[in-house]
Order: sequence, then C-alpha cells, then structure tokens
Amino acid sequence: MTDDLTVYAPLRMEATRLRGALGDRVVRSGAGPRRSAQVRERGVPAGPVAVAGIGGGLVGDLSAGDVVVATEVRRPDGTSLPCPSAPLLARALRRHGLTVRPGPVVSRPRIVHGKERDALAATGALAVDTESAWLLGDAGEVPVACVRVVADAPPAPLVHPRTAQAVRLALGRLPAVGAALRDWAAAVAPRRVLLAAPRSFCAGVERAIDIVERALDIYGAPVYVRKQIVHNASVVAQLAAAGAVFVEELDEVPQGSTVVFSAHGVSPEVRAEAERRSLEVVDATCPLVAKVHQEARRIARRGGTVVLIGHAGHEEVEGTLGEAPERTVLVQDRAEAERLPPPDTDDVTYVVQTTLSQDDVTDLVDALRRRVPHLADPPSDDICYATTNRQQALRAVAASAELVLVVGSANSSNGNRLVEVARRSGVAAHLVDGPDDVDPQWLAGVRTVGISAAASTPPELVDAVVAAIGGLGPVEVTERRTTTEDIHFTLPREVRNA
Ligand code: SF4
Repeated sequence: MTDDLTVYAPLRMEATRLRGALGDRVVRSGAGPRRSAQVRERGVPAGPVAVAGIGGGLVGDLSAGDVVVATEVRRPDGTSLPCPSAPLLARALRRHGLTVRPGPVVSRPRIVHGKERDALAATGALAVDTESAWLLGDAGEVPVACVRVVADAPPAPLVHPRTAQAVRLALGRLPAVGAALRDWAAAVAPRRVLLAAPRSFCAGVERAIDIVERALDIYGAPVYVRKQIVHNASVVAQLAAAGAVFVEELDEVPQGSTVVFSAHGVSPEVRAEAERRSLEVVDATCPLVAKVHQEARRIARRGGTVVLIGHAGHEEVEGTLGEAPERTVLVQDRAEAERLPPPDTDDVTYVVQTTLSQDDVTDLVDALRRRVPHLADPPSDDICYATTNRQQALRAVAASAELVLVVGSANSSNGNRLVEVARRSGVAAHLVDGPDDVDPQWLAGVRTVGISAAASTPPELVDAVVAAIGGLGPVEVTERRTTTEDIHFTLPREVRNA
C-alpha cells in the first residue's frame, strides 16, 4: 500500500526532508487552513493519507525534536478525527530512533500563543498546528495519520533566540518520520482477525485482582502486595493507582500492616516471616498453585524426591521449591533432565509449574524417565485448565493465521508459552504488552492475524490491539472458541464479605 500513500507537508523545508524516504508521495500543501482546504478541494486521496511536519508543543515535558503522533486530530468546531493506528505508527517511529508521545493534536485557524496555548494544553492536547484538520477532512474509510515534530514547547515562547536552532533540530527528525510513515503505509490493508477463545483472565487471576480490590475497600489504602499480584503491567498500574503498594520483600512492609500474597504463591519461609512481623495476611495464591504446593509437601513428608519441572526464578517455582528445598530437584529443560543425578530413593515424583506447555513437559518427562524409569506422575495434572485451554485455542487459530500476536507482559509465563506454541505451529508470533508494542512491519503483507492473550491480560488490551489494527484498514473479526470456561474460586474469608 506504500504506493497509494499521500503525505502532506505544509512547508517546503518539511517536504524536502520527507522526500528522502517518501519521494513523490510527499505533497507540499502550503501553510494555514485556507491553502490546506484548497488542497483537499482539488481531490481526496484514495489510499492512506498523513500530515507530517513541525508543530507547536503544548506541554512542558515535551522538548524540541520530540515527536507527537496524533491519536486524534481535534477540529476548531469541537469535533475530532480519530487516528486509531497511532500506537502502531508510534512503534515504527521509536524503531527509527525518535522520542515519541501519542496524544491529541489540535488544529487552529491561526498560530496560538501564551494563554491560548495554556488553555489548549488544559484540554489534554499535546501539539497544535494550523493545517491537519483541513488536510485530513473526514477521512472516511481511509487510514489517516498525523505526525508533528515539536519545534517549540513551553516555557519557551514561539519567538525566542533559540527558536531557529529548535526548528533546525525538529526538521532534522523528518527523514526518520518519513521512513516510519513508509512502514506504516506498507501495513495498510483489509484484514481478518481471528480471536482465540478462551483468552485473557482466568479464574485465579480474577480472584487475585478481586482480593486486592476488596482489601482496599476493607482496610483502606495502602494495602501492600508482595510481588506483582499477577504478571501484567497494566493490572499492576491500575491497582497501584487505587492504593496498592507493590513490594519485592516483606521487610518493605511496615510492622502490623496488611499484605496480600500474589497469585503465584509463596514459600513457607515467607509465611513465617509475615507472622514474625505481625502482618495481616490475605492470601491470593491461586488454588491450583496451592494444589502443587500440597503435592510437593506430601511427597517430601513421606521421604520421596520431588522433581519440579519449571523455570528458575519464577515466583511460582520459588514458592513450590520452598516447600521442601532439601527434597526437591528443579529441572528446567531437556539438558538438565539428561544430567539428573540418581535420586537417593525409589519414590520419585515429578510436579509441574502450572503455566508450562504440555508439549514441553511431555518431552521433558520422556527424558527424565530415561534417567529414572520409576518416575511417578503427579496425582493430577499440574498444568492448569486455563493454560491448557488457551494453548489449545491458540493452536486452532494459528493454523489459519499468517501472524500471531499474544497480548501479555514480558514476565507472563503462560503468555511466553503461548508465543512458543504458535511458533511451533510454524507461524511468526510476538508477545505484546498492548497496541504500543505492535510493529507495523510485522503486518506488512499479512491478511490474517491470530490474537490471543495471557491469563493475566485484561480483555480491554485485546480490544485495543484489534482497534489499532483496524486503523490500518477494514477488519473482519471472528472468534474461534474451542471450549467454554465456567470455573470460579472462592475468596479467602478475610475479604469474602466485602
Ligand atoms: Fe491459576 Fe492457572 Fe490462572 Fe495461574 S494461570 S492463576 S494457575 S488458573
């Protein structure tokens, strides 16, 4: 779609710098609303259209050379033109080395100064120009973008001894803006999105979040939470804004305070430490993680050896290991399985981190059995229902997709396993925290995108990714459901009646 791209650059010096990357797709449109409207009257482009150039920054934390990508272009009449693919364009701009802030750009019929600028900043707008609203018009079905490199920002006034230097700096960023717009336009296409179902929140994550919210209601802020309650940056940020204080260890929690243990569970040593410090504990450990702890305890108590299959350093694994460290051997991969020292007992049972991939575990258990033929299975499957269901659903979607996006944070174990499952199906796959992480280069030439989400990912982040892709052209969304989940866990008594 790059051939269809039209980029309006109001000033000659802007057009010149953009042409290095975009050639004759750059149209010098002239400064101000009258000339912009005239350009639009001469004809509306059929392909993607963008406005690029320098602009006025409205907020003090923007510096000359920073790039504002419009999430919407606000018109003087109070209406606005949404730019839903802004997060993807922002990602491309960052890849080209630019400092980027997505946010509203406001168009005004003339250059604004002083108090007028302050008033615009108070509405949440990041940058101001005198062309974009007129150049982009209503846009209709056509993908649109607006990029303004800040040439002046408060507190520096528009006319200032350093203005010329700032304008030169801003203009110097335009070749990279052109390259990013080329990547953005190359991703423009109609698409199918296949949503894997089930995806997003599992019962253990819903319960853990509910526990923190209820604890805040009952005890009031601050409520301390040991480690991230679930491995998702957005969930943690929302709860932190509501008054939760996330700590790494209990010595950061004031004596006598309330502390929530995360969904990943804790070792008996951490429980003992909480008691020593007279902390009020609310335990959000997922019952399916607690079940694995119980299995490890039982095996160790009868003198057996626990082979724990999992990833070192993950909080769930640290908690399970802590149940019987002297009787537990951690095995992370096939190489470690093949080096397993002979156990000192005939009673050897493996247990598994709840969020691993079934394929990996089967492979590892085969390797372990070659070393320890009498290795016993755990009393019941340790990989939890949510992990299994999300992996199965993703396999179904990956079979028909050219690209898979898994929405989840980098430290989400089950999110990373979903990416591996997709790649094993032969499809390119990426883990993205949200739309800001989606690189338009991945989408170039791709007509069918499969999307899933880790068990700790809020559903609205999936919606945001779909909306951003929808900003690149019409999207037909289909959900492929492989099973329905109706599992709920009861809450701990400390918060049950809130
Ligand atoms: Fe529990 Fe599984 Fe969800 Fe982890 S992924 S919180 S083990 S249900």
